[in-house]
Amino acid sequence: MPRIQENISLKAYNTFGLDAKARWFMEITHPYQGQEFLMDNVYSGLSKFVLGGGSNVLLTGDVDGIVIKNNILGKEVVRESDEHIWLEAGGGENWHELVLFTLSQNWGGIENLSLIPGSVGAAPIQNIGAYGVEIKDVFDSLRALNLATGQEFIFTHSDCNFGYRDSVFKREAKGRYLITYVTLRLDKKHKLNTRYGAIEAELEAMKAEPSIHTISEAVIRIRQSKLPDPAKIGNAGSFFKNPVIRVEDFAPIKESYPEVPHYPGGEGMIKLPAAWLIQTCGWKGLDRGTYGVHDRQALVLVNRGGAKGADLFQLSEEIMDSVREKFGISLEREVNVIGK
Ligand SMILES: Cc1cc2nc3c(=O)[nH]c(=O)nc-3n(C[C@H](O)[C@H](O)[C@H](O)COP(=O)(O)OP(=O)(O)OC[C@H]3O[C@@H](n4cnc5c(N)ncnc54)[C@H](O)[C@@H]3O)c2cc1C
Repeated sequence: MPRIQENISLKAYNTFGLDAKARWFMEITHPYQGQEFLMDNVYSGLSKFVLGGGSNVLLTGDVDGIVIKNNILGKEVVRESDEHIWLEAGGGENWHELVLFTLSQNWGGIENLSLIPGSVGAAPIQNIGAYGVEIKDVFDSLRALNLATGQEFIFTHSDCNFGYRDSVFKREAKGRYLITYVTLRLDKKHKLNTRYGAIEAELEAMKAEPSIHTISEAVIRIRQSKLPDPAKIGNAGSFFKNPVIRVEDFAPIKESYPEVPHYPGGEGMIKLPAAWLIQTCGWKGLDRGTYGVHDRQALVLVNRGGAKGADLFQLSEEIMDSVREKFGISLEREVNVIGK
């Protein structure tokens, strides 16, 4: 059984850099350690919270229970055909390092998802996506331990019920599983996706022909120029999801704000950039001393140093209220709020 530590600061374990404490804390490097712990009746009454890279959580206070830090590593080809390979990776692997590994093997499919922070095990939870690709496009299956019983389950693609920044793990199965391994189906014959405008422009600037390698490099360059680095300023990337609204609800907004950017959001629906809504409500660059809103990215709330998670939560409420009042749109948080 791995060592269980008491009253551990989570500051180094979340990209907001919030100084909340875990009442109990444990790191696991192999599923059997998790299973042994979860099956032990002594701990059955403890509430359990799984942590990966901490890049998508807002800790609003101390965690009263046990934080299980997933450090399960490993990469293995579990199946192969003429066109595909099936790669199983440990949930504790770093996502971006996995992307770099697949590129080094010349396997395509996740190059557009380069430089997304966090762990492999968390990637299916919100169906990570960027630059026209989501993990659901390459996802095969995952293995997970039930946190209440320690029993192992396999989730297929359809079991995960993926949606935009959404899966069964944000709904019915929320907080109920520890994802130990994820299997991706990658392409030996590459299908490039440069649809997302900025990629083509960046490839042109790089004077590079599209390939999985140059697309990854372009995405890395774009992300580095646009997104604040959590190592420099605490943040969890996009704090809110982009809302998808009905065409008829969009019409009055378009009338009042003809310049409103918008994209098709599925049958009869329109997707709006949450960043534009927040910026139009005047929040961009907000500085409340220890915390605020990033000055170049209205979608990113920041810890400028010494912020409290509860303050950031309160700010997110204020932002949601103002967007609701001005546009009649209810924003949804993308970040997982822990402690509320
Ligand atoms: C600068 C920045 C840019 C970002 N850009 C993007 C982007 O382009 N696209 C995108 O989709 N996301 C983006 N994100 C969000 C984040 O990178 C992803 O959500 C990522 O998958 C989170 O991984 P994590 O390991 O850090 O998860 P954590 O923050 O540790 O956890 C997130 C949630 O998953 C649960 N969890 C974590 N690991 C496991 C596991 N093994 N089993 C069960 N539950 C688990 C946690 O309990 C929590 O509820 C960005 C974040 C930052 C800071």
